[in-house]
Amino acid sequence: MIEVGATGFFLCPRNSWIPGTVEQWDGKIAAIRPVDQNLYGRETVKVQESSFFSAKDEIMHEDVDDLLNLTVLHDSTLINCLRRRYLNNVIYTNIGAIAVALNPFKFDIPAYTDDKMVLYLAEGDIIEKNLPHSWAVAHNTYFELRNDNCNQCVLVSGESGAGKTEASKIVMKYLAAISCKEGGDIQKEAGRVVGSKINLTSPPLECFGNAKTVRNDNSSRFGKFMRVKFDKDGFLVGAHIVKYLLEKSRIVTAAENERCYHSLYLVCRGNHAEKFGTENDKEFRILTSGNCLHNKEFDTTAEFDEVCKSMVAVGISEAECESMWAVVASVLHLGNVSFVDDGEGSLVNSKSEFSLATAAALLQVEGESLRREFTKTQLFVAGQQIVKLLKPTLALDAKEALMKALYDAQFQWLVDKCNAILDVDVDGNWIGLLDIFGFEMFETNSFEQLCINLANESLQNHYNTYIFERDLEECRSEGIDMSMVAFPDNAPCIHMVSGKGGIFALLDEECSLGKGTDDSFLEKLSVAHQGNPFFQRKILQKSSFTVIHYAGDVTYEVSGFLDKNRDTIKDAFKLIVSQSTNALVSQLLDPSSEAKKMTVATFFKIQLKELMDVLNSTNPHWIRCIKPHPAKKPLMWHGPNVMSQLSSSGVLGTVKIRKAGFPVRLKVGDFLAKFNVLGKSVEEIFATGSLGSAMGQKGSVRVFLKSEAYNKLEHLNKQALRKHTQTVQSF
Ligand code: ATP
Ligand code: MG
Repeated sequence: MIEVGATGFFLCPRNSWIPGTVEQWDGKIAAIRPVDQNLYGRETVKVQESSFFSAKDEIMHEDVDDLLNLTVLHDSTLINCLRRRYLNNVIYTNIGAIAVALNPFKFDIPAYTDDKMVLYLAEGDIIEKNLPHSWAVAHNTYFELRNDNCNQCVLVSGESGAGKTEASKIVMKYLAAISCKEGGDIQKEAGRVVGSKINLTSPPLECFGNAKTVRNDNSSRFGKFMRVKFDKDGFLVGAHIVKYLLEKSRIVTAAENERCYHSLYLVCRGNHAEKFGTENDKEFRILTSGNCLHNKEFDTTAEFDEVCKSMVAVGISEAECESMWAVVASVLHLGNVSFVDDGEGSLVNSKSEFSLATAAALLQVEGESLRREFTKTQLFVAGQQIVKLLKPTLALDAKEALMKALYDAQFQWLVDKCNAILDVDVDGNWIGLLDIFGFEMFETNSFEQLCINLANESLQNHYNTYIFERDLEECRSEGIDMSMVAFPDNAPCIHMVSGKGGIFALLDEECSLGKGTDDSFLEKLSVAHQGNPFFQRKILQKSSFTVIHYAGDVTYEVSGFLDKNRDTIKDAFKLIVSQSTNALVSQLLDPSSEAKKMTVATFFKIQLKELMDVLNSTNPHWIRCIKPHPAKKPLMWHGPNVMSQLSSSGVLGTVKIRKAGFPVRLKVGDFLAKFNVLGKSVEEIFATGSLGSAMGQKGSVRVFLKSEAYNKLEHLNKQALRKHTQTVQSF
């Protein structure tokens, strides 16, 4: 019931739930004035009754380290608590076993500077009280690995720019520190060296695999799963990295206000620039494609030196480093090669002859061979080989396919090299750190987004299984009535994308047909999945389809799906590159014709299945990263954005299930022993506490209780025990 003067939270589209006071109420509409007028203005806002949630002052100011301990659990109290903490520079909050981390967009919050890590390492009060932090997650993960002797994983999730990569690095640093806290000097030193090398893989991986996007100045354009390995005594001994799907289009072009990979700009800053002919970044077409040549990060000679230093410290030789930069430079020069139509086919534009020659020299391959393969193709007709001239657009496609293949292979080479240096076979356990691209929903979405979103669906399913299903199953198996608890099941959506007869299968089928096109694929898709609740194609959608994902509906444009899935380059290019006189370059593309490539979708599906199998075999820990505001600036807050991230990451769902379910569980025997003063049977104890079935239920093995019910019984128990002691004493 609303009344004038009442305080509480109101929901407004611009700010989500914020605190306010009712100024007017006409029985239908309330005029509410925001409490925090500096942030939300002085104007009253008119809302319906359902958009007002009445709350007293102490609820509006409640601050808890674990959101599940809020007196009142509601969307409004959750977001209010997070917002108040964030604006007070408290970025971490627990929600049961999950840590929520709000991106502070600054590195100088005193409580979180690296020197404070010792407080967690010391295992004092902070760990005991379970004060939220990524360090605490790392700490608990490490000790579970030691105590339970089983593999663990830390799943870091969140949208682009939410802070996943930073959080992973924080966890990694902590693991390196804690694992060499004890032990002899030699072991400590060995662990320290391994830890430092693992940490030093980040600068090169980010330099080659990250780029500035509109959402994040240092956005990871690949997924990463790193197993951090420990020996039987818990010493850090090595690591192994798996990479997923480097975004290939970013090698040849960037969207407006975005950049290609950092390395492509850094090669213009480094000390090889003169030798590589890359001193003038403005000359390179791919670098200027997004009209965003400069970036505050990864743009200076100092950065270039830092990346080189890290590579050498990890164990990559100076010669290999130089070859890597030469490949990067060759991609820049290839980007400038253009073609002109000579009436029959295409010729290399005379203005770009120099670029072609420089690229070939950098790759140490024959320039003439490249020219031939860009502009011509060989066909076999009735056993006869004929050479056909390619039109400029096709020549361009062939050239871009080569640039992508080179860069992608080089990135994989870097990952393999890190593994060759860091990976060990050891009798012990590992902690898997997953930093994978978050759910993506752009204005235009393509094949890459479908792969990324499938990965996120799978991770969400894993999370649901853990948090919801296991919880519900546990309750159900003991005969507890959980009918009022519903949770979304996204398994059918995963099946629709990657299962039998699903989108990927149809795409592969279409790719295998000589005549398949993006349009014919779309038609088949529409027929096969018409009526599927996770699929939509409206009459107006001529060249797209929509998938109803757990985190929102995403419309995918089919144009380019087949090419991206095939991802082929001419065998001739593989041969040319393999004949390079540069040792590193010659390994990049495998020319053996037996190495028939899988489609991208199939390969990704297999990788994802392996990842999910691995995750299912470990004990999971979660860090949910949240981007508080799109401006990428500190102390700014956008309520609706935060709310939608809380919702799509499953945090709100977690709260709901906790609210609906029974968070306290005790074995029947323990329950009876604990509360024996209150009754002889579970039923009797429930009766003493006046607990109905909504407050507590008896399962076959355990007693399930709401927290309030448990608190009440504890209180009654204390009272009864006190009385009992007094009676005994008075005898
Ligand atoms: P993407 O999916 O695009 O790779 P991401 O979730 O990995 O995004 P990060 O690169 O980790 O996002 O973070 C983006 C930026 O936010 C960082 O470059 C940094 O400036 C800032 N940031 C993130 N986490 C923290 C933190 N814990 N402390 C300070 N700044 C942070
Ligand atoms: Mg990242």
